[in-house]
Amino acid sequence: MIREINGIPVIEIREGKTKIYIPNPKLYTREDGTLEPAWAPVFYNPKMEFSRDVAVAFLTALKKMGISFRLVVDPLSGTGIRGLRYINESGNVSKVIINDINPIAYEFMKFNAKINNLEDRVEVYNIDANMLLYLLAMIRERPDFIDIDPFGSPIPFIDSALHTIKNGGVLAVTATDVAPLSGTRETACRRRYFSRSIKVDFDKELGLRILIASIALRAAAQDLYIEPLLSYYVDHYYRAYLVVKRGARKADEMLNENLGFIVYVTKNLRKYVIKGFPIPDVNELRNIKDEYELIGPLWIGKLCEEKVLKVINENAQYLELNTMHRLTRLIEVLISESKITTPYYYRLDMLCSKLKKSMPKINSVLECLRNKGYEASRTHFDPRGFKTSAEYHDVVECVMMVS
Ligand code: SAH
Repeated sequence: MIREINGIPVIEIREGKTKIYIPNPKLYTREDGTLEPAWAPVFYNPKMEFSRDVAVAFLTALKKMGISFRLVVDPLSGTGIRGLRYINESGNVSKVIINDINPIAYEFMKFNAKINNLEDRVEVYNIDANMLLYLLAMIRERPDFIDIDPFGSPIPFIDSALHTIKNGGVLAVTATDVAPLSGTRETACRRRYFSRSIKVDFDKELGLRILIASIALRAAAQDLYIEPLLSYYVDHYYRAYLVVKRGARKADEMLNENLGFIVYVTKNLRKYVIKGFPIPDVNELRNIKDEYELIGPLWIGKLCEEKVLKVINENAQYLELNTMHRLTRLIEVLISESKITTPYYYRLDMLCSKLKKSMPKINSVLECLRNKGYEASRTHFDPRGFKTSAEYHDVVECVMMVS
């Protein structure tokens, strides 16, 4: 039984089929007993197990779809947990590079690679993540999967990841700075994401779409374009898996088709989607008579590929994941809402308050919309929200009609 790594008291934990050592969390808790992962000498957050489980399920699903990964890079790895789980559990990765700027993390990563007998297929480094990624490009080692999983915003690491990733590779990104993205810190959003985010009823979806738009723009600057395979919001973070491909013309097409703005009418929560970048189509704007707020730029294209979602759920049962049920539930809702291309949802409680109507059952509203011939679905973004292909006046009619 190992008790210390580099003089730091440790405990052994297991996620999926992988065991790792982490600094003993009991030593890094607040007075009220809650764990504070950032205080530990090496970062490990047990709450992110779900994010890692989804990633393992995603990589495994891609194998079923005939896509395998030769080189995976986890450049902000902490204990090594992500990269080690990907190679140990997905059966779809030949080699992994794990890296962290923290020298103590380096000792943990080496140790954790060893106890899982993965030393032959894992390289461990201790340099700045951007430096690592640019160095890999320089020696023409092009990863086909890069996982940017920092705390806070991923933006400082996006340009190097895009530069280095193989044509057709997958870039996975986590953003925990949900407040700026979803409208509670407008100035921080402008600084980091070059976009206008304000308080709206579909705040969680807005944040994810601004994040993806800002990555799309950075890709376009390098004559690259992106295609989201899976993106979602849970537990106060965003996560997106994006295919990155080369092509200036396609990048132009991406900006034309998938970037745009939302016109938000505060008095009644009506929204209009207006394509275009860097400015929205002014003729369309002229037609809007209500007083409105202009939001964006944001990604107005698909957030998920339905086929990928389906394969993830078909295969999840064969994996050893502690969060299997939660995972399949999330994917089911994603499948349901991915049929609706409208890039926003309505918050039923907020809409009812604008309409001065007592709140009906959300399922009754959905049924009413479906009876009118529209698509309608709950959304994973918010239990109080629903998505629909319906026109605004039909949404209002259903909300007013049902109880
Ligand atoms: N991916 C990990 C969590 C990592 S937290 C997991 O799933 O558990 C972010 C990590 O990034 C920290 O360990 C921190 O030391 C590291 N880090 C921060 N800035 C860095 C940089 N510029 N280069 C490399 N690592 C960095």
